[in-house]
Amino acid sequence: TGSTRRDSISYRGGKPGRVPVGVGSRRLRIVVTGGAGFVGSHLVDKLIGRGNEVIVIDNFFTGRKENLVHLFGNPRFELIRHDVVEPILLEVDQIYHLACPASPVHYKYNPTNVMGTLNMLGLAKRIGARFLLTSTSEVYGDPLEHPQKETYWGNVNPIGERSCYDEGKRTAETLTMDYHRGAGVEVRIARIFNTYGPRMCLDDGRVVSNFVAQAIRKQPLTVYGDGKQTRSFQYVSDLVNGLVALMDGEHVGPFNLGNPGEFTMLELAQVVKETIDSSATIEYRANTADDPHMRKPDISKAKELLNWEPKVPLREGLPLMVNDFRNRILNEDEGKGL
Ligand code: NAD
Ligand code: UDP
Ligand code: UDP
Repeated sequence: TGSTRRDSISYRGGKPGRVPVGVGSRRLRIVVTGGAGFVGSHLVDKLIGRGNEVIVIDNFFTGRKENLVHLFGNPRFELIRHDVVEPILLEVDQIYHLACPASPVHYKYNPTNVMGTLNMLGLAKRIGARFLLTSTSEVYGDPLEHPQKETYWGNVNPIGERSCYDEGKRTAETLTMDYHRGAGVEVRIARIFNTYGPRMCLDDGRVVSNFVAQAIRKQPLTVYGDGKQTRSFQYVSDLVNGLVALMDGEHVGPFNLGNPGEFTMLELAQVVKETIDSSATIEYRANTADDPHMRKPDISKAKELLNWEPKVPLREGLPLMVNDFRNRILNEDEGKGL
């Protein structure tokens, strides 16, 4: 009931930095926007698993009900079809704000990063909830510092094809800090580096999902440019642990959440070959505009202040997503009558 739930909250309207008494208790009520997506659905599993009440808000732009279907019928779980660009009234203790068209093929179509973040901050302000923004390593743009520390301000093209994502997230960070300083909202900012795992969108153009799907479909792995650009790939369970540590901890951030293990795209292709199909071939394609040449998180801040670090290296994490991809590709093919 409302009254018992209120009893579990110590930080409502209180000083920033206090840890809610309700953390770990089943009475904490949490919203996850974008909870039907890849990262969101794994986060929801973790929160439900530790006994929280979870409300997912998602418009299914890239998310899927299938990612949450195992929770339907759980009395602590609720799913609302809603676009966060529109206002919403809810009563919760924590807001994990993940809703965002998160891949190059989708993100140019939607003002979610600005309007959605504003609405969720307005909600957090009204009800005294703690708000966590999932920002991105893309705020560093094509970085001139390597590896990237949180203190680096980035090298972003404000008018390029990626700008609505990079600059959208940078604006979202700005709004978050403005609501923190101006309205006293308790906020947390995570800068997430490339993350992979089961339930990733099959066809949203990200490199890990592309390579894994291509290897399973016996298609050539499409390497963009010369394949020497680097990324650092994090397994999704590590990210989810980091997000929860950040939300429940005492520090605003921003915090880099990523795995410092750095790979060129050609090295990634090699790991995918070793994991799925050693006979897979590589096909070179023209690279996309403004593609960052390298990216690797410096995670000393999260290690020190959140006591968090990733545990799953790429060669252990990749095999964990293969079965999920195989099953979904098989279902798709059956759906097409193949
Ligand atoms: P995803 O596309 O799987 O999930 C995003 C979810 O948001 C989807 O379920 C989608 O339907 C929902 N959504 C989009 N617009 C919405 C709107 N207007 N209203 C309501 N719901 C909406 O992507 P993901 O990889 O799970 O990303 C989750 C968050 O993490 C995003 O904010 C993304 O920017 C951030 N992030 C992810 C990565 C990564 O490598 N996966 C890296 C950096 C940052
Ligand atoms: N908002 C919302 N739910 C709430 C409170 C606010 O969706 O419970 C939205 C509201 O519609 C507005 C945004 O959040 O568009 C910012 O709200 P705030 O109160 O900070 O700004 P104001 O409405 O005063 O411009
Ligand atoms: N990339 C690639 N082949 C693909 C998809 C992407 O070589 O099929 C490259 C892309 O050019 C970029 C890197 O992989 O250099 C990571 O791309 P992704 O879109 O996954 O993430 P982001 O660029 O946002 O880090």
